[in-house]
Amino acid sequence: MAEYVNIRASGILGQEELVGFLKSRFPAATKQIGRAVEPGTECVEMRVPSNSPEFEEIREFIVTRRKQQVPGFCPPLTIGWYLRKYTKTELLDAEILLLERVSHFEPSGEECGTVYETLCKHCNWGRQISDLILDLRRVPQHKDISETIAWVEWVVSSRFAQIFAANKFIGAEFQPIFDLRNPIKRSDKWSQLTVTGAAGSLARATKLGRDPFSPSEVSWRCSLGHSVVTQFLSEIHLKRSEWDGSDIAITSALFGQGRNLLRPTPLIFISQRLYRAISAAGLTGFSLEVAHLA
Ligand SMILES: [Zn+2]
Repeated sequence: MAEYVNIRASGILGQEELVGFLKSRFPAATKQIGRAVEPGTECVEMRVPSNSPEFEEIREFIVTRRKQQVPGFCPPLTIGWYLRKYTKTELLDAEILLLERVSHFEPSGEECGTVYETLCKHCNWGRQISDLILDLRRVPQHKDISETIAWVEWVVSSRFAQIFAANKFIGAEFQPIFDLRNPIKRSDKWSQLTVTGAAGSLARATKLGRDPFSPSEVSWRCSLGHSVVTQFLSEIHLKRSEWDGSDIAITSALFGQGRNLLRPTPLIFISQRLYRAISAAGLTGFSLEVAHLA
């Protein structure tokens, strides 16, 4: 696994000092994002290996300013995130994998008439209490997995559902999706992925943090304990004793601070068997990270 930290700094967020530091110290690696409209509005990004002296130098620079509470470096701002890249062999050796949806679309189901019951006013945790209704023209047509901007509405292709059934995988149900323009006709192309498998809770080896520069301090927690806003500063470790053996499973913990249409969401993990099946079939719309049962 090659682990990198992506760092982004923007003048608009009051991070001119960081922009200047990255540009002067790492001119070749620092790329401008977009075009600066006015002086002081420049946005730059760079990527460094997480175990490099360059990263240590940037960390030192940022942590020092965080301690001094320099605006532009402090919460609620986050600076940077981890990026992990795997070889095919590493993915094939993993017992379980974190499944991240990379294709998003709108409008959300709620905007199309899907009914929710909101269960928490702090994190907006909710329960879907009607069938999923979507504008099916907006589903990414060539992706086998995608999700709406609500984070909790997962759409899979009929190929995904067929592969799942044909291999007798366990841990998911495929619910009908109805189209906004004809809400009594069930889509034959798309289903809603409902994960019933239990992945349990995170093991202690999983490192959480606001960003790579503030380990162990998360950005936000629901005051009733449902959800947390955090980055994962390490690969994810789950408690083996709580994993129910499914081929697809979700955590009991939720992540993200929902509001309005956004709902906090669990993490989804898949078994090596399911990974091999969807990868052999060439399914798309997701990225994977190795995860561990501890
Ligand atoms: Zn809550």
